[in-house]
Amino acid sequence: QSRAVTDPWYPSPLASGLDDWGDAYSRARNFVAGLTLLEKVNITTGTGWQSDRCVGNTGSLPRLGLGSLCLQDSPLGVRFTDYVSVFPSGVQTASTWDKEYALSNMLNDLTYSLIYNRGLALGQEFRGKGVNVALGPVAGPLGRTPAAGRNWEGFSPDPYLTGVAMYQTILGTQSTGVIACAKHLIANEQEHYRQAAESNGIKTHRHTTESLSSNVDDRTLHELYLWPFADAVRAGVGSFMTSYNQINNSYASQNSKIINGLLKDELGFQGFVMTDWAAQHSGVESSLSGLDMTMPGTGIPSDGTSYWGSNLTLAVLNGSLPEWRLDDQVTRIFAALYKIQNKSNSTFPEVNFSSWTSDDEGDAIFAPGEQYQRINDHVDVRRSHSSLIREINANSIVLLKNINSTLPLKSPKQIAIIGSNAGPNLAGPNGCPDRGCDNGTLALGWGSGTADFSYFITPLEAIQSRAISEGSGVQYVLEDYNYAQINATARRATTCLAFINSNSGEHYISVDLNEGDRNNITAWHDGDQLVSFTAANCNNTIVVVNSVGPIILEPWINHPNVTALVWAGLPGEDSGSSLVQVLFGDVNPSGKLPYTIAKSASDYGTNVMYEATEDVPQQDFTEGLFIDYRHFDQYKIEPRFEFGFGLSYSTFSFSSLLIEKASDSPYKANPYVPLTPINATPTRGKVSDYTFPSTFSRVKNYIYPYIPADSNIDGGSYPYPPHAVDTTPHPPSPAGGGPGGNPSLYDVLYRVSATITNNGPHPGKEVAQLYINLPSSANAPPKQLRGFEKVSLDVNASATVTFNLTRRDLSIWDVKVQNWVIPTGPITVFVGRSSRDLELVNIL
Ligand code: BGC
Ligand code: BGC
Repeated sequence: QSRAVTDPWYPSPLASGLDDWGDAYSRARNFVAGLTLLEKVNITTGTGWQSDRCVGNTGSLPRLGLGSLCLQDSPLGVRFTDYVSVFPSGVQTASTWDKEYALSNMLNDLTYSLIYNRGLALGQEFRGKGVNVALGPVAGPLGRTPAAGRNWEGFSPDPYLTGVAMYQTILGTQSTGVIACAKHLIANEQEHYRQAAESNGIKTHRHTTESLSSNVDDRTLHELYLWPFADAVRAGVGSFMTSYNQINNSYASQNSKIINGLLKDELGFQGFVMTDWAAQHSGVESSLSGLDMTMPGTGIPSDGTSYWGSNLTLAVLNGSLPEWRLDDQVTRIFAALYKIQNKSNSTFPEVNFSSWTSDDEGDAIFAPGEQYQRINDHVDVRRSHSSLIREINANSIVLLKNINSTLPLKSPKQIAIIGSNAGPNLAGPNGCPDRGCDNGTLALGWGSGTADFSYFITPLEAIQSRAISEGSGVQYVLEDYNYAQINATARRATTCLAFINSNSGEHYISVDLNEGDRNNITAWHDGDQLVSFTAANCNNTIVVVNSVGPIILEPWINHPNVTALVWAGLPGEDSGSSLVQVLFGDVNPSGKLPYTIAKSASDYGTNVMYEATEDVPQQDFTEGLFIDYRHFDQYKIEPRFEFGFGLSYSTFSFSSLLIEKASDSPYKANPYVPLTPINATPTRGKVSDYTFPSTFSRVKNYIYPYIPADSNIDGGSYPYPPHAVDTTPHPPSPAGGGPGGNPSLYDVLYRVSATITNNGPHPGKEVAQLYINLPSSANAPPKQLRGFEKVSLDVNASATVTFNLTRRDLSIWDVKVQNWVIPTGPITVFVGRSSRDLELVNIL
């Protein structure tokens, strides 16, 4: 049986200062020319797990007065510190579909979008804590399968929606001078088997020898998984993180096709590429494959050894790694700093917290316990972000069912709140490290993609205080299995709110035997029973779901007493305020599902590999392009609630579809001429020039660039992959040439406009969604999202929205010509209110 393989792509492309990176590159090149070999190595290598204060820290350059760079989680808040905001998760933010940003064409009149503003606010908080590199946003996992543990850290299984969210988040974050990190590259679509050592710690599974290989074909890679990362590069993201998995049987951190070929050549990425934590598997090979930085520099926990650090110094000295590659690594890091962090002259704050203790004083070098000092300043970086958080939540709650005009609530006489998912975690908001439990209302999944709450508002709390002003009574049962009390309480109420959830997270924590990925996609704590008992006793049962992704609703969705379903997602620090606004009608709901909710788990056609059958688990992405709604459309499967669906208290009509040709410009050849590496013979000198200075006091398990005194620096022969150290550049991809790919991929070829009218009883917001259908010869999914615009409309008001369709939007990846091609034949354009409710149709 033949296994998927990766085509090698060498030599690693030199960054050249493409597009608006030119200035940063001249400065970085100058600077790097003045660095010693030891200094260059030091900036590429983390100082070790729990050595310095952040989750990742590079070595420093004391001669030049530069401290280490601080790299810190997470995509939704500054992890491992206090006085920070915990923003709504990625998936929650995506369900706002809010990118008004692009609506106004007058540059001085930009109304920034919620997605952009969240990125900006995150950046402000990271900066306030002294974090140079914020480890987010996430486009991998994309969401191939709904049970995958970390989907909620990212945005949506639709690459277009995720791409827009990546773009705006990165622009927002980097506008503050903080370098964003697009992660995890790529096909990181499940948690089981992401690292052999971690999986082997769970004894019930087969012992594996390597990480799972995600086997993905070239077209699927381009059209689904790489697509949003192209938007990240186009946004000017300063760094990328590779994933734990292998892609086509080559580790992400040393996959030359992915890093050298796709990211650095085809997408023209000018920043630096780091490993995921402890995901490096080789020294010279990973560097030649395009890796620029290793994090945290060691394994977890640190044993004081590194593939780089002194080994990288040695590799350059003995000639096994050409120095031009190391220079490119370091130049990329400094170019990102010059372009993003140092673009203004304002000084960047020093790190003012420790990830490893919340005490005021402690060991700055934590794991070995050295340098006792003041380490936590408890800087409050929250500004007024709590109001932005409530606004995002108010705009992202999705109303899925609402019969008998149940919602908005009208001063109900007696409200019954049922379920632990309405109340607090009795251990406290941060009672479970990295949110690794499912106690109380679910506001985030678990793992490194979290942050500690500074305060936390539960639905119970918010509903109770509103009920007082409404004159309503409130009873509650927070015990999920106390059915006698649930029955009795529901029976006496006029309005019942049943709260259920479903949770998942990262593999290093298991919750209720869910090893990161969800074991199934049904509600936790017997949520179906909880809803059924409530509904059996209460003819006005409103179900509120907090979930990391889709759950199966079939056991009760058609129950006549289930009158409304509110999808409240993963809202971060305030799970109550916005929910109350929507329930009581202060806010008209306008969120739309960023994924499909199926009638049965098997309808998705993909699943997590829970049990490996081989030592190196092979996960074949045989479904190709057909994930989420693309799969349901292709195989004519009726979902329960389709992608893009969401109700309002008002109604909207669509009219006047207009298609206008915007440009005839042809697809141009890649204009880029790659730089040629110069193979200088290393100036070796003698071993003692690179050993620890005699007066140096070493810290245990800390990673340094110095080499041992008995090192051999004589050159030798080394078994390189073909072309790995060539000084003739690899021919550039025809699809490359600018950030995000060939610049003419982003030519706007068509403009499509449509009119939306609010013809219902309330002011509200609607999301106009544009999908395309490519000619059948393209073998493409029946419908693909290629535009969306959210508009706010008063009663009887209309607005015209305009969508720009670029060449990329209309193309498929042709594996033969290795380029994007617009298929010949008619392309159909649909505009409407969800992926299955598209009343306007025309041919391009
Ligand atoms: C996660 C990353 C995270 C890193 C640092 C890894 O296990 O996959 O997303 O940024 O740890 O905590
Ligand atoms: C850390 C995470 C990291 C994980 C890697 C955990 O101990 O808290 O930051 O992502 O190890 O497996």
